[in-house]
Amino acid sequence: MAYDPDNVFAKILRGEIPCNKVYEDAHTLAFHDINPQTPTHILVVPKGAYVSWTDFSETASDAEIAALVRAVATVAKEAGVAEQGYRVLSNVGVNANQEVPHLHIHVFAGRKLGRMVP
Ligand code: 5GP
Repeated sequence: MAYDPDNVFAKILRGEIPCNKVYEDAHTLAFHDINPQTPTHILVVPKGAYVSWTDFSETASDAEIAALVRAVATVAKEAGVAEQGYRVLSNVGVNANQEVPHLHIHVFAGRKLGRMVP
């Protein structure tokens, strides 16, 4: 899928719409989900124009990939949920109901989570 520069996360990254930011580095931005499904629900996004893990893994630099992974751990630690536990999830494509076509990772935490089911 071609990257749509008008997707909502692209607009957040350009500062065209606000977000409740929790973390930022050179390659990554993290902010609270607008419709949280758990007491802590944070979205971690690469700043580059990637739709899925396919284009991210094929075209992102090692620094971008490392930053995204480290950002997830940092966000969980700074949100105070690392000890009690959290869930990392990423929806990709139609079958996973990806709503926003900019690669993102959900971090769910703050309560006991149900078992993972498809
Ligand atoms: P997806 O279904 O694509 O994995 O998840 C997209 C997520 O983005 C949803 O949880 C949705 O609530 C969140 N979202 C959609 N629009 C906005 C927005 O404008 N701001 C923020 N912070 N989150 C959004």
